[in-house]
Amino acid sequence: MSKGKVAALVGPKKVEIKEFNLPEVQPGAVLLKVRRSNLCGSELHIWRWHHPVIKHAVLGHEMIGEIFELGEGVTTDYAGNPVSVGDKVVPAYYLTCLKCRSCLRGDFNLCQNAYAFWSQPPEKPPHFTGTFATHYYVQPNQYFYKVPDSVPDAVAAGANCGLSQVICGLDLAELRNGESVVIQGAGGLGLYAVAVAKEKGAKVIVIDKVKERLEQAKAFGADYVIDLNEFTTLESRSREVQKLTEGDGADVVLEVAGVPEALIDGVHMIRPGGRYISIGNVNVSKEFEVPVAPGLITRKCAKIIGVVRYNPWYLYRALKFLERNHARYPFDKLTDKEYGLEEVPEALQKAENRVVTRAAIVPNK
Ligand SMILES: [Zn+2]
Ligand SMILES: [Zn+2]
Repeated sequence: MSKGKVAALVGPKKVEIKEFNLPEVQPGAVLLKVRRSNLCGSELHIWRWHHPVIKHAVLGHEMIGEIFELGEGVTTDYAGNPVSVGDKVVPAYYLTCLKCRSCLRGDFNLCQNAYAFWSQPPEKPPHFTGTFATHYYVQPNQYFYKVPDSVPDAVAAGANCGLSQVICGLDLAELRNGESVVIQGAGGLGLYAVAVAKEKGAKVIVIDKVKERLEQAKAFGADYVIDLNEFTTLESRSREVQKLTEGDGADVVLEVAGVPEALIDGVHMIRPGGRYISIGNVNVSKEFEVPVAPGLITRKCAKIIGVVRYNPWYLYRALKFLERNHARYPFDKLTDKEYGLEEVPEALQKAENRVVTRAAIVPNK
């Protein structure tokens, strides 16, 4: 029987490479060979042992793979495209069980069984439940889509996390043509958001404190950037946003910074009737609380929209978005260093120390 390997978290910031027999593929399931997997910020969060659920776990969730074996009955992807062995696909990284209370409401992104097969302890069959691995097991009911031929691996690898999420977020905020959007944070999600917002015909303002990231935001088409090193106070930043939005404030503010204070800035920056989208801030403990006057939200009739994961069909839209637009934006520059599977511990440490901005794991090099 052939074997594969996974990079598993075995303690806080402690990773081991483990080998297992490839699982038998159940009806409705698909076994993928991993082509490329990005090291996303939430992976660092898990590695630091901060995730509430995921502890002893196979790491990785952002990826592109190719079909290695199809389970009985699987003839198409979740958009009805015929699939066969060797096809490139991306899966949503969580399960949609279709039966829990959230799924019954149609909130697939909130499926209460989302974690049932995601980053499980490595010893637990089918073992290949994370994407920092040679193989990855797609469960029955876990959405996956074929990748358009024209989209390169390095571009498609981020589709099932960051890109799908910002498309979903900006959709929920109903960002319209000609509106202004402030993007807080120019990491991977922020840069995806710039491209998506530009394609929607919006005026895009990006805030960050890292010069290179602001430069990248401009390369992605940001109309204005605000450097936190220059605009050091809430007042100065709000004033700048007002100036750039004809005195009104932004129609939409999108938070992808993971910095709690961004909420304070955001509710000050949106116009009356504006929308604030919270994506990057995922911690819920006391130390992540910030003071905000609720009256500001009331008086502005502001809409606050939280977005965790995305409804799985946004992944299909993300791939279509890339097919149409990838050549017009520097998506291929989003990852700056490649590592093999054995180098996952090093990749995580370097990402933690910010020696690399966005690492990619290429496990079958
Ligand atoms: Zn991610
Ligand atoms: Zn469910």
